[in-house]
Amino acid sequence: MKLDRRNFIKLMVGGAVGLQVTPLPWKITDDIAIWTQNWPWVPVPAEGAYDHEASVCSLCPGGCGIEVRKVDERAVKVEGREDYPINPGGLCPLGMGSLQLLYNEDIRFTGPMKRVGPRGAGVFQNISWDEALEILSGRVNVLRRDSRPEAVAAIDGNPVESTASLLIQRLMQTIGSPNYLRVPSFEDTDRMVNLLMQGVDGPVAYDLENADFILSFGCGLLEGWGAPGRILGLWGKWHDRENKRKPTVVQVESRASNTASKADQWVAAAPGTEAALALGIAHVIIKDGLYDREFIEQKTFGFHPWNAADWKEHQGFQGLVLSEYSPRKVQDITGVPAERIVSLARSFAKAKAPIAIWGKGKGDLNGSLYESMCVHSLNALVGNINKPGGVLVLDRLPLKQLPETPLDPIAEAGLKKTPVGAAAGEDSPFAANLLTRFNEALSAGGPSPVELLMVFGANPAFTMPDGGSMRRALKAVPFIVSFSPFRDETAFMADLVLPDHMAFEKWSEIIQPRGVQYPLYGLGKPVVKPLYQTQDAGETILKLARRLDKAAPEAFPWKTFEDIMAYRAEGLFEAGAGLVRYKPAQPPWSWKPFAEPAAGFKSSKDMWQKIKASGLWYQPLDHQRAAMTTFKTPSGQFEFYSTRLEMKLKDLNKAPSSDLVCMPHYAPSSPPSDSSRYPLAMVPYDMVNLVSSWLPNPPFLNKTLLPEQLLKDASYAEIHPDTAKAYGLKQDDLVQVESVAGEVRVRVCLFEGAMPGVVYLPFGLGHTAYDEFSRNKGVNPNDIIAAGADPLSGLPVWWKTPVQLNKV
Ligand code: SF4
Repeated sequence: MKLDRRNFIKLMVGGAVGLQVTPLPWKITDDIAIWTQNWPWVPVPAEGAYDHEASVCSLCPGGCGIEVRKVDERAVKVEGREDYPINPGGLCPLGMGSLQLLYNEDIRFTGPMKRVGPRGAGVFQNISWDEALEILSGRVNVLRRDSRPEAVAAIDGNPVESTASLLIQRLMQTIGSPNYLRVPSFEDTDRMVNLLMQGVDGPVAYDLENADFILSFGCGLLEGWGAPGRILGLWGKWHDRENKRKPTVVQVESRASNTASKADQWVAAAPGTEAALALGIAHVIIKDGLYDREFIEQKTFGFHPWNAADWKEHQGFQGLVLSEYSPRKVQDITGVPAERIVSLARSFAKAKAPIAIWGKGKGDLNGSLYESMCVHSLNALVGNINKPGGVLVLDRLPLKQLPETPLDPIAEAGLKKTPVGAAAGEDSPFAANLLTRFNEALSAGGPSPVELLMVFGANPAFTMPDGGSMRRALKAVPFIVSFSPFRDETAFMADLVLPDHMAFEKWSEIIQPRGVQYPLYGLGKPVVKPLYQTQDAGETILKLARRLDKAAPEAFPWKTFEDIMAYRAEGLFEAGAGLVRYKPAQPPWSWKPFAEPAAGFKSSKDMWQKIKASGLWYQPLDHQRAAMTTFKTPSGQFEFYSTRLEMKLKDLNKAPSSDLVCMPHYAPSSPPSDSSRYPLAMVPYDMVNLVSSWLPNPPFLNKTLLPEQLLKDASYAEIHPDTAKAYGLKQDDLVQVESVAGEVRVRVCLFEGAMPGVVYLPFGLGHTAYDEFSRNKGVNPNDIIAAGADPLSGLPVWWKTPVQLNKV
């Protein structure tokens, strides 16, 4: 069957409603019985006592409240909690299929192991925890005694500010290595936008529940963007016939994704030109005088021209946008007709609570910093910041700081060394270490500067959009330790595996679910006893630290990992506000004064026990607090021109080469390539039923893929019929998609929802590890992404790669 726009919509979405009422979950449920009859590891509940446990899912940063049904000790079903504000009653497909990750020995490590086969083959031998910790601590101690602690490196995929992440950083400080690296994520981009424009080093928060016009620049609202449980549930509510407050949703995206197909309007801008479109919209809003004058005059800096202290003249955002981004010019860049840009701008500016949001697809990977700044400028123009239906400036959660890490002389000396792949300068002034540069440094040839690499909560060999650079780098490292619970690609390269528990077997935090507009701390609890000889990675770090020469006693005074989480949560108590129980009748986004809420706890200890029971602490939105929230930029205003960036560059002796460096603007994003050899663009895309993060895909979800997406082992590239015609291709033809970084073989899927000249490949296929349901199924677009570096952030540019199609 040809996958045209109509069939796509019909099969993936059904009616005009969100996931809760799409056929997808029902298709999954219906098919489970058929697909699983002969799978030996599928849980077959024994007869026993029925029970249920309320908890919080930590499989993604969405932080859904979950209820796990159990028969005796066996978990048999995961459902959404009605008494949790993020996802009242709903769940995403990953959450629904999550027990398949818990009970699947083919996907998980069952205990500590050392490698006995070639790297990448996944052949390991069981060892004891004592032996495993002795091997790792012995190697670290040898490097420290040699005064080479910097030869230890860590890659961390845990959420920013999570206790797990802080503990890993503390371990690296105690050892004395500056080589702590984070896997790039959208949190990085969001935090930089927030810091540069609003002065807050924290997450961006969107009051979508109260918005009446949502202008989404590529956000996969139906593909798993933000906190997916929240967004999918919201989409369902928006389309409820009884709901009179349905917002208008406009999706800017080159491909007719699930979200674009179901939005009120789909605006197909050429991929990578979204920043120009945002500024074209800004042009119309300014020219027509539709912007919020009061907000602009009183609360922003950099809109009008100004003279600096040194009399240097600055043009200002208004002048830039009016001179460079007329609808005609933007039409030429984006392909969106000028009249459409004008009408879109007017509709947006005239709405009561319009909001512009950013983050492509699921928003797992970093985004373009300037593009995100361009989009956020629209929110400032309409003055919808710190108001119902707008963007909220949130401080970080008031968690207590861990005490400073005591350092011995070896650690002090090691931390002064230059990190491997260090980055600074105008190109990426806020990036200390970049994983992409780290990879390049390791694979440059010669002896590896890193001798021992630890990988936590990440599978960078699969998820890094780097054309295989991470895999090449891993080959150069003499000793790799994986803390993954899963038999993933990175773990298969490891020499030692110290497997973490799965989410449902341990305490796990959600520090401010992604995009949620009110402060929330979520806590998931163990709902089943650990099935295997695994160990919470936090406990493993504490045990490892105790075996390090001199390091542990002062640096790690806590007995258990839970003690550290409880210690940090004391800050929530000290903040003197917050609720630990949710009443669905009083949602935190209602902006209504709460009848002075009985906090429900008497002491910090009492509060912790209550958080453990309910899984949450939160603060409802309130007008007074929002009105008191200020921008913490150097000017104290929302900054169209980032003075913080200007100062940072001057500190680096790199004064900005032009005003544009500190302002939202459009710059073509593709890495340099030979356009005659690579005339097409490859754009990867996300699907809600295909996990593309470091987690494996539950096998049932693979079964929900359409034959036009995965047929046996072959995956498909979506291309427009006109592109196919130009290359003499037809449906199901085998083609090679070639970029400067490599090539992959796929079949052709003709799709009218594809933009001509663009080749679309799904994220999440092409594993070489895990089980038979994931291994060697399709191709991984990351393998051919020729990533340049995004200006300022230095993070990989993955959203558009020049490619060629070769018929096989
Ligand atoms: S959206 Fe995230 S937190 Fe919610 S059920 Fe899915 S994986 Fe779990």
